Amino acid sequence: MAKKQFKTESKRLLELMINSIYTHKEIFLREIVSNASDALDKLCYLALTDDKVGMSRADFFIRIKSDKEARTVTVSDNGIGMTAGELEKNLGVIARSGSLEFKSGMEGQQAAEGDIDIIGQFGVGFYSAFMVSDTVEVISRAYGQNDAAKWVSSGVDGYTITAYEKETVGTDIIMHIKPDTDEENYGEFLEPYRLRQLIKKYSDYIRYPIIMDVEKTRSVETDEVDEDGNKKTKYESYNEEETVNSMVPIWQRGKSEVSDEECIAFYKEKYYDADDPVRIIRISAEGAAVSYKALLFIPKKAPYNYYTRDYEAGLQLYTSGVMIMEKCADLLPECFRFVRGVVDSQDLSLNISREMLQHDRQLKTIATNIEKKIKSELKKLMTDDLSLYKEFYQSFGLQLKYGILGGYGMKKDLLSDLLLFHSSNENDMVSLSDYVSKMPEEQKFIYYACGDSIARLDKLPQTEPVKEKGFSILYLTEEPDEFVVSMLGEFDKKTFKSVNSDDLGLESEESKEETEKQETENKELLDFVRDSLNGNVAAVKLSHKLKSHPVCLSAQGTISLEMEKYFSSLPGGGEKMKAERVLELNANHKTFNALKMAFMRDKDKAAKYAKLLYFQALLIAGTDIPDPGEYAGLVDELIV
Ligand code: ADP
Repeated sequence: MAKKQFKTESKRLLELMINSIYTHKEIFLREIVSNASDALDKLCYLALTDDKVGMSRADFFIRIKSDKEARTVTVSDNGIGMTAGELEKNLGVIARSGSLEFKSGMEGQQAAEGDIDIIGQFGVGFYSAFMVSDTVEVISRAYGQNDAAKWVSSGVDGYTITAYEKETVGTDIIMHIKPDTDEENYGEFLEPYRLRQLIKKYSDYIRYPIIMDVEKTRSVETDEVDEDGNKKTKYESYNEEETVNSMVPIWQRGKSEVSDEECIAFYKEKYYDADDPVRIIRISAEGAAVSYKALLFIPKKAPYNYYTRDYEAGLQLYTSGVMIMEKCADLLPECFRFVRGVVDSQDLSLNISREMLQHDRQLKTIATNIEKKIKSELKKLMTDDLSLYKEFYQSFGLQLKYGILGGYGMKKDLLSDLLLFHSSNENDMVSLSDYVSKMPEEQKFIYYACGDSIARLDKLPQTEPVKEKGFSILYLTEEPDEFVVSMLGEFDKKTFKSVNSDDLGLESEESKEETEKQETENKELLDFVRDSLNGNVAAVKLSHKLKSHPVCLSAQGTISLEMEKYFSSLPGGGEKMKAERVLELNANHKTFNALKMAFMRDKDKAAKYAKLLYFQALLIAGTDIPDPGEYAGLVDELIV
């Protein structure tokens, strides 16, 4: 019989499969099995609506057999089957569903890279058999037909279709596995254990039994007799059919059927985590737009590579029990990228491409629901078990903060009430709503201080007036904290205020006037101090904030001292991002009097005092002194 030619686009795809350098050739089995499952679905559906079929759901199966000598792997199903005409139509061209995306992926110069992507992520159906086979035979008998047909192809030069005998309805796909080469061990696909592994990995949840012969051993009695007169036994091996897939995935089962313990065991095994997750999220959604089930987990600890580029976030995506994507990042918002789990929706197509997935409305609906659900579960955890939430927060608090900063604050409303900061009054981590609820009536702002450590912040001169009022201060010690606060701007209509701010909103009008008056009186001295500091500070002021301390350092303008520190820690950052420093002096402190006296009698000495006070302010602020030698010299002079 004359060979028929493949349609052009099929030919191109076939070439690609045959010469595939793609490393995940193993997905061919997933593709063939899922086609078989579709064929079973079709006949199963027919059986429901037509008594003549005479089969029930339990009668349907997929069987996989390997023959090492013949080097074949056969996947059989008793599904709907294909007539000769259908073999021609279905296998001579790429199936309509897959072809469109394929074509769009093939266009452009980067075809080669794109190709691999397509194969890797979505599979391209039947032709993937050619990644591991040099010849593929398809023997099929369609339901309602007595004749069967055989389709054979050894690659791009075409295929033949001939009449054939087949006793039962259904399809056998016989794959002649390629010979091994130096680079590729195709023979592995003939090993039953390897095939079982692949079924477990990709097709475990196919809803029909996938049957394989499993080699077992048993003991049998022989006629030989041992010394004690007992019959001797020997071991023999035999094959037994076994269903190798579990058929019903854990996420498909109802809450009453699967305990939390089972879900936790599933999580630990699947994600190699020694810790229990802090929360299990089960979703079973049936909506007009899309129906899906999801089983999600919020881990307690971050994997070692979580905050590196190596960590790949995303949820495993299934459609009708077939895994189509290992890590679907589009299902998870960046701020919750620590969540792990599975989403299964029968409304998605198996051959959908990544680009299409990104624009898929159903997928977007799922992602939006998932985001809401994760948020509400985290909130619940915070209320139900704050200490467990704190453990979670230790690992992923930073992620939530970056989530607020990302996308120009798009997610700030979603995330702000999940934050925890150290509160000076409680000496513990508190949420922002907790902080606000405990604010006395007269307190107008949410006060915060930024620095390296809580101990250091607690000693900061600027905190004194706030503490004196009995108001709590949030101590922010993580790198993004200050940016987070400035991105939030306010919480529950209460504005954030740094203890470094010029006006803490604590002072009475009279005392403000008093300070202003003092400042005018001492203008000459303040200018002198500024000039003595050689441009290190933008301004010198008298401060009403200070109580027991003689000086403190603050900043005017948008860049704070902490931000400056952060920027200068960035490679190549630094120079441009300088805070405009302000040296604040306590007019009621003894040192101020000493400075004043020196200014009147000995300008040289006054300049030295000014420097000393500036250095002191730097030290208290936790900033490096630019010239420690000079500082030491000045102190020595004082002592001697
Ligand atoms: P897709 O599955 O995306 O449609 P494939 O290239 O995998 O694309 O398969 C092409 C078509 O061949 C299928 O749509 C189906 O009609 C038919 N087919 C493949 N395998 C089988 C099978 N085991 N039984 C019946 N029909 C099959």
